[in-house]
Amino acid sequence: MEKLFIGGKWVASSSGKTFKSTNPATGETIDAFQAGNAKDVDAAVKAARAAYSKWRLVPAPERGGLLLEIARILRREKPRLARLVTDEMGKQLKEGLGDVQEAIDVFEYMAGEGRRFFGHTTPSELPNKFAMTVRTPVGVCGLITPWNFPIAIPAWKLAPALVAGNTVVLKPASDTPACATELVKILAEAGLPAGVVNLVTGSGEDVGVPMVKHPGIDCLSFTGSREKGEFITANAGLKKVGLELGGKNPIIVMDDADLDLAVEGIVWGAFGTTGQRCTAASRVIAHKAVEKALVEKLVKATKKLSVGYGVNHDVGPLVNKAALDKVKNYVALGKKEGKLVLGGKQLTGLFFEPTIFVNVKPSARIAQEEIFGPVLSIITVKSLAEAIEVANSTTYGLSSSIYTRDISAAFTAVRDLEAGLTYVNSSTIGAEVHLPFGGVKSTGHGREAGIEGINEFSETKTVYFDYSGKLQKAQKIG
Ligand code: NAP
Repeated sequence: MEKLFIGGKWVASSSGKTFKSTNPATGETIDAFQAGNAKDVDAAVKAARAAYSKWRLVPAPERGGLLLEIARILRREKPRLARLVTDEMGKQLKEGLGDVQEAIDVFEYMAGEGRRFFGHTTPSELPNKFAMTVRTPVGVCGLITPWNFPIAIPAWKLAPALVAGNTVVLKPASDTPACATELVKILAEAGLPAGVVNLVTGSGEDVGVPMVKHPGIDCLSFTGSREKGEFITANAGLKKVGLELGGKNPIIVMDDADLDLAVEGIVWGAFGTTGQRCTAASRVIAHKAVEKALVEKLVKATKKLSVGYGVNHDVGPLVNKAALDKVKNYVALGKKEGKLVLGGKQLTGLFFEPTIFVNVKPSARIAQEEIFGPVLSIITVKSLAEAIEVANSTTYGLSSSIYTRDISAAFTAVRDLEAGLTYVNSSTIGAEVHLPFGGVKSTGHGREAGIEGINEFSETKTVYFDYSGKLQKAQKIG
Protein backbone atom coordinates (compact mmCIF):
# COMPACT_ATOMS: atom_id res chain seq x y z
CA MET A 1 0.00 0.00 0.00
CA GLU A 2 1.31 3.45 -0.94
CA LYS A 3 1.35 6.54 1.28
CA LEU A 4 1.07 10.29 1.00
CA PHE A 5 4.34 12.23 0.81
CA ILE A 6 4.26 15.20 3.19
CA GLY A 7 7.25 17.13 4.53
CA GLY A 8 9.67 14.51 3.20
CA LYS A 9 7.92 11.58 4.91
CA TRP A 10 5.64 8.85 3.57
CA VAL A 11 2.58 8.99 5.82
CA ALA A 12 -0.93 7.53 6.03
CA SER A 13 -3.94 9.77 5.46
CA SER A 14 -5.75 11.04 8.53
CA SER A 15 -8.93 9.70 6.87
CA GLY A 16 -7.85 6.13 7.64
CA LYS A 17 -9.29 5.24 4.22
CA THR A 18 -7.73 3.92 1.03
CA PHE A 19 -8.77 3.40 -2.57
CA LYS A 20 -7.54 1.10 -5.32
CA SER A 21 -6.10 1.76 -8.73
CA THR A 22 -6.91 -0.86 -11.35
CA ASN A 23 -5.60 -1.86 -14.75
CA PRO A 24 -8.31 -0.79 -17.24
CA ALA A 25 -7.38 -3.59 -19.63
CA THR A 26 -7.50 -6.48 -17.16
CA GLY A 27 -9.37 -5.15 -14.12
CA GLU A 28 -6.48 -6.28 -11.89
CA THR A 29 -5.62 -4.18 -8.87
CA ILE A 30 -2.38 -2.22 -9.20
CA ASP A 31 -2.13 -1.08 -5.59
CA ALA A 32 -3.99 0.68 -2.78
CA PHE A 33 -3.55 4.40 -2.14
CA GLN A 34 -4.40 6.83 0.63
CA ALA A 35 -7.77 8.54 0.31
CA GLY A 36 -6.51 11.95 1.38
CA ASN A 37 -8.70 14.69 2.85
CA ALA A 38 -8.71 18.39 3.73
CA LYS A 39 -6.54 17.77 6.83
CA ASP A 40 -3.87 16.10 4.70
CA VAL A 41 -4.02 18.98 2.23
CA ASP A 42 -3.51 21.41 5.10
CA ALA A 43 -0.50 19.44 6.39
CA ALA A 44 0.98 19.35 2.88
CA VAL A 45 0.47 23.09 2.40
CA LYS A 46 2.13 23.80 5.76
CA ALA A 47 5.10 21.56 4.83
CA ALA A 48 5.38 23.30 1.45
CA ARG A 49 5.21 26.73 3.10
CA ALA A 50 7.93 25.80 5.61
CA ALA A 51 10.21 24.52 2.83
CA TYR A 52 9.55 27.56 0.62
CA SER A 53 11.55 30.03 2.71
CA LYS A 54 14.77 28.08 2.02
CA TRP A 55 14.02 26.65 -1.43
CA ARG A 56 13.35 30.06 -2.98
CA LEU A 57 16.86 31.14 -1.94
CA VAL A 58 18.63 28.13 -3.46
CA PRO A 59 20.34 29.54 -6.57
CA ALA A 60 18.26 28.77 -9.65
CA PRO A 61 21.16 26.96 -11.41
CA GLU A 62 21.43 24.68 -8.39
CA ARG A 63 17.68 23.99 -8.53
CA GLY A 64 18.19 23.26 -12.23
CA GLY A 65 20.94 20.78 -11.31
CA LEU A 66 18.44 18.82 -9.24
CA LEU A 67 16.09 18.74 -12.23
CA LEU A 68 18.86 17.24 -14.33
CA GLU A 69 19.35 14.56 -11.71
CA ILE A 70 15.60 13.82 -11.85
CA ALA A 71 15.87 13.48 -15.65
CA ARG A 72 18.81 11.08 -15.22
CA ILE A 73 16.85 8.82 -12.84
CA LEU A 74 13.78 8.99 -15.07
CA ARG A 75 15.89 7.79 -17.97
CA ARG A 76 17.15 4.89 -15.86
CA GLU A 77 13.58 4.00 -14.86
CA LYS A 78 11.99 4.65 -18.26
CA PRO A 79 11.12 1.03 -19.19
CA ARG A 80 9.58 0.29 -15.79
CA LEU A 81 7.61 3.54 -15.66
CA ALA A 82 6.38 3.15 -19.24
CA ARG A 83 5.03 -0.29 -18.39
CA LEU A 84 3.31 1.18 -15.35
CA VAL A 85 1.70 3.84 -17.57
CA THR A 86 0.37 1.08 -19.83
CA ASP A 87 -0.87 -0.98 -16.91
CA GLU A 88 -2.48 1.83 -14.97
CA MET A 89 -3.86 4.04 -17.74
CA GLY A 90 -4.12 1.68 -20.70
CA LYS A 91 -2.16 3.40 -23.46
CA GLN A 92 0.07 1.22 -25.60
CA LEU A 93 3.63 0.67 -24.39
CA LYS A 94 5.16 2.73 -27.22
CA GLU A 95 3.01 5.64 -26.06
CA GLY A 96 3.88 4.89 -22.43
CA LEU A 97 7.54 5.24 -23.39
CA GLY A 98 6.65 8.56 -25.03
CA ASP A 99 4.87 9.69 -21.85
CA VAL A 100 8.03 9.10 -19.80
CA GLN A 101 10.26 10.60 -22.50
CA GLU A 102 8.20 13.77 -22.37
CA ALA A 103 8.89 13.98 -18.64
CA ILE A 104 12.63 13.47 -19.23
CA ASP A 105 12.56 16.18 -21.90
CA VAL A 106 10.75 18.71 -19.74
CA PHE A 107 13.00 18.17 -16.71
CA GLU A 108 16.06 18.60 -18.96
CA TYR A 109 14.64 21.66 -20.67
CA MET A 110 13.59 23.31 -17.42
CA ALA A 111 16.96 22.46 -15.83
CA GLY A 112 18.45 24.83 -18.40
CA GLU A 113 15.96 27.50 -17.34
CA GLY A 114 17.79 27.49 -14.01
CA ARG A 115 20.72 29.09 -15.84
CA ARG A 116 18.49 31.51 -17.76
CA PHE A 117 15.45 32.53 -15.74
CA PHE A 118 15.74 35.75 -17.67
CA GLY A 119 14.41 39.13 -16.81
CA HIS A 120 15.17 42.07 -19.06
CA THR A 121 16.85 45.42 -18.83
CA THR A 122 15.62 48.58 -20.47
CA PRO A 123 16.65 52.25 -20.29
CA SER A 124 15.03 54.52 -17.77
CA GLU A 125 13.44 57.78 -18.95
CA LEU A 126 15.51 59.56 -16.29
CA PRO A 127 19.28 60.05 -16.08
CA ASN A 128 21.37 57.96 -13.71
CA LYS A 129 18.61 55.49 -13.20
CA PHE A 130 18.69 51.80 -14.08
CA ALA A 131 15.61 49.69 -14.85
CA MET A 132 15.20 45.94 -15.06
CA THR A 133 12.91 43.03 -14.32
CA VAL A 134 13.71 39.93 -12.29
CA ARG A 135 11.71 36.75 -11.88
CA THR A 136 10.49 35.61 -8.50
CA PRO A 137 8.66 32.44 -7.47
CA VAL A 138 4.94 32.61 -6.70
CA GLY A 139 5.07 30.59 -3.47
CA VAL A 140 3.20 27.36 -2.78
CA CYS A 141 1.75 25.87 -5.98
CA GLY A 142 -1.10 23.37 -6.10
CA LEU A 143 -0.83 21.04 -9.08
CA ILE A 144 -3.95 19.06 -10.08
CA THR A 145 -3.49 16.60 -12.93
CA PRO A 146 -5.53 14.21 -15.10
CA TRP A 147 -4.89 10.55 -15.87
CA ASN A 148 -4.24 10.63 -19.63
CA PHE A 149 -0.56 11.60 -19.38
CA PRO A 150 0.06 10.27 -15.90
CA ILE A 151 3.82 10.93 -15.86
CA ALA A 152 4.18 13.70 -18.47
CA ILE A 153 1.53 16.14 -17.21
CA PRO A 154 2.71 16.13 -13.56
CA ALA A 155 6.25 16.59 -14.94
CA TRP A 156 5.14 19.51 -17.14
CA LYS A 157 4.02 21.30 -14.01
CA LEU A 158 6.63 20.11 -11.50
CA ALA A 159 9.70 21.01 -13.55
CA PRO A 160 8.94 24.72 -14.15
CA ALA A 161 7.39 25.16 -10.70
CA LEU A 162 10.49 23.80 -8.97
CA VAL A 163 13.12 25.52 -11.08
CA ALA A 164 11.33 28.82 -10.48
CA GLY A 165 11.72 28.33 -6.71
CA ASN A 166 8.20 27.31 -5.73
CA THR A 167 7.26 24.45 -3.48
CA VAL A 168 4.35 22.25 -4.49
CA VAL A 169 1.45 20.06 -3.47
CA LEU A 170 0.58 17.54 -6.19
CA LYS A 171 -2.84 15.91 -6.44
CA PRO A 172 -2.87 13.34 -9.24
CA ALA A 173 -5.95 11.80 -10.87
CA SER A 174 -7.52 8.97 -8.91
CA ASP A 175 -7.19 6.71 -11.95
CA THR A 176 -3.38 7.00 -11.99
CA PRO A 177 -2.00 7.46 -8.46
CA ALA A 178 0.71 4.80 -8.94
CA CYS A 179 2.38 6.73 -11.76
CA ALA A 180 2.40 9.93 -9.70
CA THR A 181 3.70 8.12 -6.62
CA GLU A 182 6.59 6.60 -8.60
CA LEU A 183 7.42 10.00 -10.05
CA VAL A 184 7.50 11.59 -6.58
CA LYS A 185 9.76 8.77 -5.33
CA ILE A 186 12.18 9.74 -8.09
CA LEU A 187 12.06 13.40 -7.06
CA ALA A 188 12.84 12.37 -3.50
CA GLU A 189 15.71 10.12 -4.64
CA ALA A 190 17.18 13.02 -6.62
CA GLY A 191 17.60 14.88 -3.33
CA LEU A 192 14.89 17.54 -3.23
CA PRO A 193 14.76 18.96 0.31
CA ALA A 194 11.88 17.80 2.53
CA GLY A 195 8.64 19.68 1.92
CA VAL A 196 9.58 21.01 -1.52
CA VAL A 197 7.33 18.41 -3.16
CA ASN A 198 4.30 16.98 -1.41
CA LEU A 199 1.90 14.38 -2.76
CA VAL A 200 -1.71 13.99 -1.66
CA THR A 201 -3.69 11.26 -3.38
CA GLY A 202 -7.47 11.12 -3.10
CA SER A 203 -10.63 12.27 -4.82
CA GLY A 204 -11.34 15.57 -6.50
CA GLU A 205 -13.99 16.25 -3.87
CA ASP A 206 -11.85 15.45 -0.81
CA VAL A 207 -8.42 16.68 -1.99
CA GLY A 208 -8.94 18.80 -5.11
CA VAL A 209 -11.64 21.07 -3.66
CA PRO A 210 -9.71 21.81 -0.43
CA MET A 211 -6.69 22.69 -2.56
CA VAL A 212 -8.72 25.02 -4.76
CA LYS A 213 -10.06 26.83 -1.69
CA HIS A 214 -6.94 26.71 0.50
CA PRO A 215 -5.72 30.21 1.45
CA GLY A 216 -2.14 28.91 1.80
CA ILE A 217 -1.92 27.97 -1.89
CA ASP A 218 -0.74 30.90 -4.01
CA CYS A 219 -0.84 29.35 -7.44
CA LEU A 220 -3.01 26.61 -8.94
CA SER A 221 -2.12 24.79 -12.10
CA PHE A 222 -4.93 22.56 -13.33
CA THR A 223 -5.24 20.23 -16.29
CA GLY A 224 -8.57 18.49 -16.72
CA SER A 225 -12.12 18.93 -17.90
CA ARG A 226 -13.84 22.20 -18.71
CA GLU A 227 -16.48 21.55 -16.08
CA LYS A 228 -13.86 21.33 -13.30
CA GLY A 229 -12.03 24.31 -14.79
CA GLU A 230 -15.21 26.34 -14.39
CA PHE A 231 -15.48 25.21 -10.77
CA ILE A 232 -11.91 26.33 -10.15
CA THR A 233 -12.49 29.70 -11.76
CA ALA A 234 -15.47 30.26 -9.46
CA ASN A 235 -13.78 29.02 -6.28
CA ALA A 236 -10.04 29.72 -6.36
CA GLY A 237 -10.34 33.31 -5.17
CA LEU A 238 -7.38 35.46 -6.13
CA LYS A 239 -4.85 32.67 -6.67
CA LYS A 240 -2.74 32.75 -9.81
CA VAL A 241 -4.52 30.10 -11.89
CA GLY A 242 -3.45 28.24 -15.04
CA LEU A 243 -6.10 26.12 -16.78
CA GLU A 244 -5.47 23.50 -19.48
CA LEU A 245 -8.90 22.12 -20.36
CA GLY A 246 -10.53 20.13 -23.14
CA GLY A 247 -10.53 20.26 -26.90
CA LYS A 248 -12.57 19.46 -30.01
CA ASN A 249 -9.64 19.58 -32.34
CA PRO A 250 -10.23 19.84 -36.11
CA ILE A 251 -8.17 18.59 -39.03
CA ILE A 252 -9.01 20.45 -42.24
CA VAL A 253 -8.32 18.47 -45.41
CA MET A 254 -8.30 20.73 -48.48
CA ASP A 255 -8.92 19.64 -52.08
CA ASP A 256 -5.18 19.79 -52.89
CA ALA A 257 -4.06 17.81 -49.84
CA ASP A 258 -1.81 14.75 -49.94
CA LEU A 259 -4.60 12.38 -48.91
CA ASP A 260 -2.36 9.51 -47.82
CA LEU A 261 -0.42 11.84 -45.55
CA ALA A 262 -3.67 13.27 -44.19
CA VAL A 263 -5.08 9.81 -43.50
CA GLU A 264 -1.99 8.83 -41.52
CA GLY A 265 -2.28 12.00 -39.44
CA ILE A 266 -6.01 11.59 -38.89
CA VAL A 267 -5.72 7.96 -37.78
CA TRP A 268 -2.92 8.81 -35.35
CA GLY A 269 -4.68 11.93 -34.07
CA ALA A 270 -8.12 10.37 -33.68
CA PHE A 271 -7.33 6.90 -32.39
CA GLY A 272 -3.88 7.16 -30.78
CA THR A 273 -4.25 6.91 -26.98
CA THR A 274 -7.79 5.68 -27.78
CA GLY A 275 -8.76 9.29 -28.52
CA GLN A 276 -8.07 10.18 -24.91
CA ARG A 277 -5.80 13.15 -25.57
CA CYS A 278 -6.79 16.74 -25.05
CA THR A 279 -5.32 17.32 -28.51
CA ALA A 280 -7.03 14.31 -30.13
CA ALA A 281 -8.44 14.97 -33.60
CA SER A 282 -12.16 14.52 -33.13
CA ARG A 283 -13.36 16.42 -36.20
CA VAL A 284 -12.24 16.10 -39.80
CA ILE A 285 -13.39 19.00 -41.94
CA ALA A 286 -13.07 17.71 -45.47
CA HIS A 287 -13.36 19.62 -48.74
CA LYS A 288 -16.23 18.09 -50.72
CA ALA A 289 -13.94 17.48 -53.72
CA VAL A 290 -11.89 14.93 -51.74
CA GLU A 291 -14.33 13.81 -49.08
CA LYS A 292 -15.33 10.53 -50.75
CA ALA A 293 -11.75 9.44 -51.48
CA LEU A 294 -10.62 10.53 -48.03
CA VAL A 295 -13.32 8.57 -46.23
CA GLU A 296 -12.56 5.45 -48.27
CA LYS A 297 -8.86 5.63 -47.41
CA LEU A 298 -9.60 6.51 -43.80
CA VAL A 299 -11.96 3.60 -43.26
CA LYS A 300 -9.44 1.23 -44.87
CA ALA A 301 -6.57 2.49 -42.70
CA THR A 302 -8.63 2.48 -39.50
CA LYS A 303 -9.76 -1.10 -40.10
CA LYS A 304 -6.11 -2.12 -39.86
CA LEU A 305 -5.78 -0.85 -36.28
CA SER A 306 -5.61 -3.59 -33.71
CA VAL A 307 -7.34 -3.01 -30.40
CA GLY A 308 -5.95 -4.66 -27.28
CA TYR A 309 -3.87 -4.50 -24.14
CA GLY A 310 -0.29 -3.50 -23.89
CA VAL A 311 2.50 -4.00 -26.31
CA ASN A 312 1.51 -5.19 -29.73
CA HIS A 313 -1.58 -3.18 -30.53
CA ASP A 314 -2.53 0.29 -31.71
CA VAL A 315 -5.52 1.16 -29.55
CA GLY A 316 -5.92 0.39 -25.84
CA PRO A 317 -8.93 0.43 -23.52
CA LEU A 318 -10.86 3.43 -22.26
CA VAL A 319 -9.69 4.45 -18.83
CA ASN A 320 -12.76 3.48 -16.81
CA LYS A 321 -16.44 2.57 -16.95
CA ALA A 322 -17.60 6.20 -16.89
CA ALA A 323 -15.45 6.92 -19.96
CA LEU A 324 -16.85 3.86 -21.72
CA ASP A 325 -20.44 4.85 -20.93
CA LYS A 326 -19.77 8.35 -22.21
CA VAL A 327 -18.46 6.97 -25.51
CA LYS A 328 -21.44 4.61 -25.82
CA ASN A 329 -23.87 7.46 -25.23
CA TYR A 330 -22.22 9.68 -27.83
CA VAL A 331 -22.13 6.84 -30.36
CA ALA A 332 -25.87 6.27 -29.84
CA LEU A 333 -26.40 9.98 -30.39
CA GLY A 334 -24.08 9.95 -33.41
CA LYS A 335 -26.26 7.36 -35.10
CA LYS A 336 -29.02 9.97 -35.10
CA GLU A 337 -26.79 12.92 -35.94
CA GLY A 338 -24.68 11.36 -38.71
CA LYS A 339 -24.03 8.17 -40.64
CA LEU A 340 -21.91 5.47 -39.00
CA VAL A 341 -19.35 4.13 -41.47
CA LEU A 342 -17.06 2.24 -39.10
CA GLY A 343 -17.04 0.78 -35.60
CA GLY A 344 -19.67 1.82 -33.09
CA LYS A 345 -19.49 -1.20 -30.82
CA GLN A 346 -18.02 -2.08 -27.47
CA LEU A 347 -15.59 -4.99 -27.61
CA THR A 348 -14.75 -6.83 -24.39
CA GLY A 349 -14.38 -4.90 -21.13
CA LEU A 350 -13.34 -1.28 -21.61
CA PHE A 351 -12.29 -1.74 -25.23
CA PHE A 352 -14.27 0.07 -27.93
CA GLU A 353 -14.01 -0.06 -31.71
CA PRO A 354 -12.48 2.95 -33.50
CA THR A 355 -15.59 4.70 -34.78
CA ILE A 356 -16.20 7.05 -37.71
CA PHE A 357 -19.28 9.10 -38.54
CA VAL A 358 -19.81 10.96 -41.84
CA ASN A 359 -22.46 13.53 -42.87
CA VAL A 360 -22.12 15.23 -39.52
CA LYS A 361 -23.44 18.79 -39.23
CA PRO A 362 -21.05 21.28 -37.62
CA SER A 363 -23.64 22.01 -34.93
CA ALA A 364 -24.26 18.34 -34.04
CA ARG A 365 -23.46 17.50 -30.44
CA ILE A 366 -20.90 14.87 -31.52
CA ALA A 367 -19.15 17.66 -33.43
CA GLN A 368 -19.33 20.16 -30.58
CA GLU A 369 -18.76 18.25 -27.34
CA GLU A 370 -15.59 16.55 -26.15
CA ILE A 371 -16.12 12.76 -26.25
CA PHE A 372 -12.60 11.76 -25.18
CA GLY A 373 -12.72 8.39 -26.89
CA PRO A 374 -12.10 6.76 -30.29
CA VAL A 375 -14.88 8.58 -32.13
CA LEU A 376 -14.33 10.74 -35.20
CA SER A 377 -16.85 12.99 -36.96
CA ILE A 378 -16.44 14.01 -40.58
CA ILE A 379 -17.95 17.29 -41.75
CA THR A 380 -18.01 18.33 -45.41
CA VAL A 381 -17.34 21.90 -46.57
CA LYS A 382 -17.05 23.72 -49.89
CA SER A 383 -14.22 26.20 -49.26
CA LEU A 384 -11.36 27.19 -46.99
CA ALA A 385 -13.43 30.02 -45.53
CA GLU A 386 -16.22 27.60 -44.62
CA ALA A 387 -13.68 25.11 -43.22
CA ILE A 388 -12.23 27.74 -40.91
CA GLU A 389 -15.69 28.89 -39.86
CA VAL A 390 -16.64 25.31 -38.97
CA ALA A 391 -13.31 24.72 -37.19
CA ASN A 392 -13.92 27.81 -35.06
CA SER A 393 -17.55 26.97 -34.33
CA THR A 394 -16.89 25.13 -31.05
CA THR A 395 -16.21 26.79 -27.73
CA TYR A 396 -12.88 24.96 -27.47
CA GLY A 397 -9.58 26.17 -28.91
CA LEU A 398 -6.68 23.83 -28.20
CA SER A 399 -5.15 22.20 -31.29
CA SER A 400 -5.92 22.39 -35.00
CA SER A 401 -4.46 21.22 -38.28
CA ILE A 402 -4.69 21.77 -42.01
CA TYR A 403 -3.55 19.54 -44.84
CA THR A 404 -2.91 21.52 -48.00
CA ARG A 405 -0.16 22.18 -50.53
CA ASP A 406 -1.32 25.77 -50.99
CA ILE A 407 0.91 28.09 -48.99
CA SER A 408 -1.70 30.83 -48.99
CA ALA A 409 -4.35 28.46 -47.57
CA ALA A 410 -1.86 27.30 -44.94
CA PHE A 411 -0.99 30.83 -43.79
CA THR A 412 -4.64 31.86 -43.81
CA ALA A 413 -5.43 28.92 -41.54
CA VAL A 414 -2.49 29.76 -39.25
CA ARG A 415 -3.85 33.30 -38.98
CA ASP A 416 -7.55 32.51 -38.59
CA LEU A 417 -7.89 29.24 -36.68
CA GLU A 418 -8.88 29.97 -33.09
CA ALA A 419 -6.54 27.59 -31.33
CA GLY A 420 -3.43 27.54 -29.19
CA LEU A 421 -1.72 25.21 -31.67
CA THR A 422 -1.93 24.90 -35.44
CA TYR A 423 -0.15 22.17 -37.36
CA VAL A 424 0.37 22.34 -41.12
CA ASN A 425 0.47 18.96 -42.87
CA SER A 426 0.69 17.14 -39.57
CA SER A 427 -1.76 15.79 -37.01
CA THR A 428 -3.20 17.69 -34.04
CA ILE A 429 -0.99 15.84 -31.57
CA GLY A 430 2.73 15.77 -30.92
CA ALA A 431 3.65 18.84 -28.87
CA GLU A 432 7.34 19.36 -28.12
CA VAL A 433 8.39 20.52 -24.66
CA HIS A 434 10.46 23.52 -25.70
CA LEU A 435 7.45 25.19 -27.35
CA PRO A 436 4.52 26.70 -25.46
CA PHE A 437 1.40 24.57 -25.11
CA GLY A 438 -2.12 25.67 -24.23
CA GLY A 439 -5.44 26.81 -25.58
CA VAL A 440 -7.77 29.72 -26.18
CA LYS A 441 -11.50 30.21 -25.57
CA SER A 442 -12.91 27.68 -23.10
CA THR A 443 -9.85 25.45 -23.37
CA GLY A 444 -8.50 27.75 -20.69
CA HIS A 445 -5.63 30.16 -20.35
CA GLY A 446 -1.95 30.20 -19.67
CA ARG A 447 0.80 28.28 -21.44
CA GLU A 448 2.79 25.32 -20.27
CA ALA A 449 6.21 24.20 -21.50
CA GLY A 450 8.68 26.30 -23.43
CA ILE A 451 9.90 29.58 -22.07
CA GLU A 452 6.29 30.65 -21.45
CA GLY A 453 5.84 27.70 -19.09
CA ILE A 454 8.01 29.60 -16.65
CA ASN A 455 5.49 32.46 -16.61
CA GLU A 456 2.87 30.16 -15.10
CA PHE A 457 5.02 29.60 -12.06
CA SER A 458 6.79 32.90 -11.56
CA GLU A 459 6.08 36.57 -11.14
CA THR A 460 7.86 39.47 -12.75
CA LYS A 461 9.28 42.05 -10.40
CA THR A 462 10.19 45.44 -11.83
CA VAL A 463 13.25 47.03 -10.23
CA TYR A 464 14.31 50.69 -10.44
CA PHE A 465 17.78 51.65 -9.29
CA ASP A 466 18.27 55.38 -8.92
CA TYR A 467 21.91 56.37 -8.50
CA SER A 468 21.42 60.11 -9.15
CA GLY A 469 21.44 60.95 -5.45
CA LYS A 470 18.27 63.06 -5.73
CA LEU A 471 14.54 62.47 -5.99
CA GLN A 472 13.71 62.15 -9.69
CA LYS A 473 10.05 62.13 -10.70
CA ALA A 474 8.85 60.20 -13.76
CA GLN A 475 6.32 61.58 -16.29
CA LYS A 476 8.11 64.95 -16.41
CA ILE A 477 6.72 66.06 -13.05
CA GLY A 478 9.06 68.86 -12.03
P1 NAP B 1 -11.20 15.91 -14.55
O1 NAP B 1 -12.30 15.02 -14.18
O2 NAP B 1 -11.48 17.36 -14.66
O3 NAP B 1 -10.05 15.67 -13.44
C1 NAP B 1 -8.80 16.30 -13.50
C2 NAP B 1 -8.23 16.36 -12.10
O4 NAP B 1 -9.04 17.22 -11.29
C3 NAP B 1 -8.20 15.02 -11.38
O5 NAP B 1 -7.06 14.96 -10.55
C4 NAP B 1 -9.48 15.09 -10.55
O6 NAP B 1 -9.48 14.24 -9.44
C5 NAP B 1 -9.46 16.53 -10.12
N1 NAP B 1 -10.75 17.08 -9.72
C6 NAP B 1 -11.99 16.57 -9.95
N2 NAP B 1 -12.92 17.40 -9.44
C7 NAP B 1 -12.27 18.45 -8.91
C8 NAP B 1 -12.69 19.64 -8.24
N3 NAP B 1 -13.97 19.92 -8.05
N4 NAP B 1 -11.74 20.51 -7.83
C9 NAP B 1 -10.43 20.26 -8.04
N5 NAP B 1 -9.97 19.14 -8.65
C10 NAP B 1 -10.89 18.26 -9.09
O7 NAP B 1 -10.51 15.48 -15.91
P2 NAP B 1 -9.99 14.03 -16.33
O8 NAP B 1 -11.16 13.19 -16.66
O9 NAP B 1 -9.02 13.52 -15.33
O10 NAP B 1 -9.15 14.37 -17.65
C11 NAP B 1 -9.73 14.50 -18.89
C12 NAP B 1 -9.88 15.95 -19.26
O11 NAP B 1 -8.63 16.61 -19.18
C13 NAP B 1 -10.33 16.14 -20.68
O12 NAP B 1 -11.30 17.17 -20.75
C14 NAP B 1 -9.07 16.57 -21.41
O13 NAP B 1 -9.28 17.30 -22.58
C15 NAP B 1 -8.40 17.37 -20.36
N6 NAP B 1 -6.96 17.49 -20.63
C16 NAP B 1 -6.49 18.71 -21.04
C17 NAP B 1 -5.14 18.85 -21.34
C18 NAP B 1 -4.59 20.17 -21.79
O14 NAP B 1 -3.38 20.36 -21.70
N7 NAP B 1 -5.40 21.11 -22.27
C19 NAP B 1 -4.29 17.75 -21.23
C20 NAP B 1 -4.82 16.53 -20.82
C21 NAP B 1 -6.16 16.42 -20.52
P3 NAP B 1 -10.11 12.75 -9.51
O15 NAP B 1 -9.33 12.01 -10.51
O16 NAP B 1 -9.91 12.26 -8.13
O17 NAP B 1 -11.55 12.94 -9.89
